[in-house]
Amino acid sequence: MKEERLAITHLGEDQTKYMNAVVPPVFMNSLHVFDSMESYALREENQAYVYGRAANPTVTILEEKVAALEGGCRAVAFASGMAAAAAAILAVCRAKSHIICMRDVYQPVKNILNQYFIPRMEITVSYWDGVDLNELEDLIQDNTDMILLESPATFVFTVTDIAGAARIAKAHNIKTYIDNTYCTPLYQKPLAMGIDIVMHTMSKYIGGHSDIIGGILAVKDEELGNLLKNTIRELFGGILGPMEAWLGIRGLRTLQVRLEQHQKTAKEVAKYLEGHPKVDRVYYTGLDSHPQAERIRKQQTGHTGLMSFVLKDDPQKAVELVDHLKIFEIGCSWGGFESLALCPLLYYSEDDLEFLGLGGRDKGLIRIHCGLEGADALIEDLEQALRAL
Ligand SMILES: *Cc1c(COP(=O)(O)O)cnc(C)c1O
Repeated sequence: MKEERLAITHLGEDQTKYMNAVVPPVFMNSLHVFDSMESYALREENQAYVYGRAANPTVTILEEKVAALEGGCRAVAFASGMAAAAAAILAVCRAKSHIICMRDVYQPVKNILNQYFIPRMEITVSYWDGVDLNELEDLIQDNTDMILLESPATFVFTVTDIAGAARIAKAHNIKTYIDNTYCTPLYQKPLAMGIDIVMHTMSKYIGGHSDIIGGILAVKDEELGNLLKNTIRELFGGILGPMEAWLGIRGLRTLQVRLEQHQKTAKEVAKYLEGHPKVDRVYYTGLDSHPQAERIRKQQTGHTGLMSFVLKDDPQKAVELVDHLKIFEIGCSWGGFESLALCPLLYYSEDDLEFLGLGGRDKGLIRIHCGLEGADALIEDLEQALRAL
């Protein structure tokens, strides 16, 4: 904890390099110049900054902080979470690879598999429920190169046995990837549990103010880190912009205090909802009623502000409820200062719901993000909206 707090506040920063400014600047430059051709010739040996598509000093500060927080040797920042996810797949897989993917990973990750990697790279994909490790092992083929995980995964907050999945993968020489956005680098340490690549969308809690799009990968293998940075990022050209990196650094400084507040508020809201007669179920990793509460205690050290719940009424009532909310605004992201609500499954077909192991009332699942307005205001808002049904 002490190390983490020092990492989010100071690590990676050297004030003497920027005129003792307490905050490092936004290095808003596309290139760096050299005082002689000789020093240019030695640029690689001297690990000099050369060109902004390869590396940028502001981006590096952010990367050093996230690498330290995740216990990795390197972090590589990208222009979005999806750019980071795609980079991970590109780095690990080849044409005709087989991927095992948890069913409820972030939908656009499944979309990029379906719309690009499967038709264009002849990659094949098997889906896993994220729970049964024997089933995971049964899904492994000779050409399985990668396992894609997200824990907890949004919608119903499925939690997977991270160390268990990583152990199986290692035994079969398969690389593992996990989306750790929900827990942030503070509440879950997948690299320590044996995972190879950890992804964070900085658009959520790391940014924390709903003002940037960005993604970052952390790894503990030097070779994989170099491949991600020098081949995938530099040549595909997906580096994070310096302004976004600067805002990411600023977001990180308050991550720990913000998360404590998000968590405190969300726990109160979750308990309130769980006790409400019109609410059928609440999905939140911070509730003792979570079906995988024991596993959660083993691998997560905290919970954040995101949860979902289902009403006893039909899905149309969920729409009405969301429309009645005043402080919770309707929007699809989370992790910022503001509270948000959405019925994300409303437009899912029966087949898509069944694929996720959901059905019936789940169509009306309401996902809420508890921002920083305080539990009193949020519970009051939910109360008036529930009363109005
Ligand atoms: C938002 C999100 C992403 C995608 O991040 P972008 O920065 O929007 O590309 C990936 N995973 C999870 C869990 C997310 O919530």
